[in-house]
Amino acid sequence: MFNSDSGKNSHNKKKFQKINLGIRQTVLERARYRCQGCSIKFNTQDTPFFSHINGSLKDNRPANLKALCKECYTKTGEHKIKDNIVGKIRSLIRRVI
Ligand SMILES: [Zn+2]
Repeated sequence: MFNSDSGKNSHNKKKFQKINLGIRQTVLERARYRCQGCSIKFNTQDTPFFSHINGSLKDNRPANLKALCKECYTKTGEHKIKDNIVGKIRSLIRRVI
């Protein structure tokens, strides 16, 4: 499956600049694999979305992230700030699945 976190960058010295697999795991486990907006349970095929609590897209510490389903994430409006390409790829993937 396509993964935007390529293994190449996993040893990046710039800490928490990207939401890597470990951060995703931490946030998802803390949320008990449920959307922190509507409490829907994520399916294994679902791509959870991550919202930045303090509004800073560069602050990717687990403490600053909320796991959200697509609907709740869309409501945050954060997807409009982020790179559109990422969103397009994500929605494409979701359609394929
Ligand atoms: Zn939700």
